[in-house]
Amino acid sequence: MTCKVCNKEAVFVTTHNLLGLVESSIFQCSTCKTLFRDPLPSEKQLFEYYSKRDGRYNEVLEQKMAINQSNWLNDKLKKFGYLKNDYNYFEFGCGRGWLVKCMKNLGYNSFGLDPDSNSVSWGKTNLDINISQGFLDIYSNVNEFKSEKNLIISMMHVLEHLTNPSDVLKYLSTNFENHLLYFEVPDGKFEADVLKLDTLNCNSSGQHFFSFTEEGIISLLENRGYDVIVLEKFGNQRFWKSYLRSMNVWGIIETKYKYWRDVKFSFFEIFLISLSLSFKTMFYWITSKIEDLLFRRNSRLDLPVIRILAKSKLK
Ligand SMILES: [Zn+2]
Repeated sequence: MTCKVCNKEAVFVTTHNLLGLVESSIFQCSTCKTLFRDPLPSEKQLFEYYSKRDGRYNEVLEQKMAINQSNWLNDKLKKFGYLKNDYNYFEFGCGRGWLVKCMKNLGYNSFGLDPDSNSVSWGKTNLDINISQGFLDIYSNVNEFKSEKNLIISMMHVLEHLTNPSDVLKYLSTNFENHLLYFEVPDGKFEADVLKLDTLNCNSSGQHFFSFTEEGIISLLENRGYDVIVLEKFGNQRFWKSYLRSMNVWGIIETKYKYWRDVKFSFFEIFLISLSLSFKTMFYWITSKIEDLLFRRNSRLDLPVIRILAKSKLK
């Protein structure tokens, strides 16, 4: 298998059922270490999946994230000499539109698109912003946002959900002259272990088709017509720790269950295994409680991420 990000050789890692839609394998690139899944559900399946999904963070958290992301962008634009008046801000996958709102507050002319109609109508009503329903139908939506100004095209935690991030970047870099690209993805260096374990529908990393590394994302951008202006990493490495522990327990239980289903078993064996599992679970539970006492509890704000500002290469 060829790496979908840097085109080097990738190796098979494991297979999971993805979103209850398709049996999908995970591959890891030997060079850039990016993880990706193959095969992926069809666009139609994904549209149905995401239109039924209603998972949002609470408002305070979404607002805090957006304030961090908008201030960072505004600072970098200033630092690298991009003038506010020369750019319109445009976000794909804007959710309820908190970041669109924050950019508007900072004085940018701001727009957003999101596939979830509930989020869009909430944002329009409560945040007084210019957003509409749409997204992966990027090809029909983009033109209406072309204007005399250059664009800052933004995609926060979007690339990892796309079936074809490479094609989407190529499309953007060839169809918009002289724009900036602003995005954030989970840092695959820490997220990879979670992806390898399972694809839980309830957890957002379970829905990621890609887990990007710094090396992979830089290579993807360079191959698709972008120069990185600045890349920074944020978050706390402990974020995934307790989650990984519980995933491991569920993994053991699932493996045993499959084994009992397929092979003849004795009640004595089940008794022994259940006993050992109970002890293991208890041990994990106590360790987590101790860690909660010792360390501050992680929130979504601690998720390890890679944040990038890039510019399209001059033609
Ligand atoms: Zn690669």
